[in-house]
Amino acid sequence: MAVGWHRPTKLVIDTQAIKENVWNEVKRMPQGSELFAVVKANGYGHGAVQTAKAAILGGATGFCVAILDEAIELREAGITEPILILSIVDVSYIDVLLKYDLSVTVATQEWLEQAIDRLNHIETQGPLKIHIKVDTGMGRIGFTTPKTVKQAVELAQSTQLVVWEGLFTHFSTADEKDVSYFEKQTQRFQAVLSALFELPKYVHVSNSATALWHPDNVGNMIRFGIAMYGLNPSGHMLPEVYPLKPALSLVSQLIHVKELAAGEGIGYGNTYTTTENEWIGTIPIGYADGWLRHLQGFSVLVNGQKCEIVGRICMDQCMIRLPEKVSVGTTVTLVGHDHGADITLQMVADKLETIHYEVACTFSDRMPREYK
Ligand SMILES: *Cc1c(COP(=O)(O)O)cnc(C)c1O
Repeated sequence: MAVGWHRPTKLVIDTQAIKENVWNEVKRMPQGSELFAVVKANGYGHGAVQTAKAAILGGATGFCVAILDEAIELREAGITEPILILSIVDVSYIDVLLKYDLSVTVATQEWLEQAIDRLNHIETQGPLKIHIKVDTGMGRIGFTTPKTVKQAVELAQSTQLVVWEGLFTHFSTADEKDVSYFEKQTQRFQAVLSALFELPKYVHVSNSATALWHPDNVGNMIRFGIAMYGLNPSGHMLPEVYPLKPALSLVSQLIHVKELAAGEGIGYGNTYTTTENEWIGTIPIGYADGWLRHLQGFSVLVNGQKCEIVGRICMDQCMIRLPEKVSVGTTVTLVGHDHGADITLQMVADKLETIHYEVACTFSDRMPREYK
């Protein structure tokens, strides 16, 4: 994809904020615990490699990604820390997992059997590092009973071809006030632990929400995602335990400014008509950048003042109503801080009736990312 280096619209990522968010978590973790930074989906849109490097400076000692290619990206960028792939990788790629020294999630006995069979037939040097996933109620992937986990552990321990490196689960409601389902999942995981005679190097259950609001939970590693980017995992629901520092801003510039008389239409479908003499500015960002059409009516900041997005958002541009004449080239802040005012990803998410995770991931690669 062509990146808009020659257009004044960009994501600005504050790597210091990422580092501080990681450090604030690392320093409250119990001794002997490790923080793995979750940098899947291009670091939740922030850039995986740059986020990973900032996280290391903050004290992260490993990484989690969703898919094999994301792990390869980190390795090719020179990241040597442990990397765990959280979703299922096809057994046909085991040689790739070995080549890049990656740890992989095991969610079924069949996968493990096929993996061992394959490991017996390939030349690449092992062993393969595995983390056994327990489904305690997320209903996504993993073994669902202590008995099936035990069988997988026994199979893993019966061969030199694999190393049983981790055991983990994932909570579906750790970001909620009501802890009853969370406790049910915790009990199920405890039942798995009790059924085993020994434990692997890493036992991990905590995403950001669990780490923040249930810090005394079991495990010796946490999978720290959204909070590292400075976003509250619960949205509005639970108060931050310590201040999280948002790392992402989105800025552009006015590329065109004009005064219109009353009664003039703006944008496709003519959904907005000026009601008086109005100053209308155009900014070079649109739904192809992930600035979605549903943001019509939302506001952006110009010189610290809120300006409404008027008319439909186009693919590459959108229009805003200015309080007065403002020069072409003036900075427009779509997400971030400007002259004492703030627009947060949470505010964008509220307008879109979704979560900030999704907003950050939706920003397209057409926008360059600048790191500071
Ligand atoms: C994405 C993911 C995480 C990180 O979750 P956050 O809410 O961003 O902290 C942790 N564990 C698993 C299994 C995940 O898929």
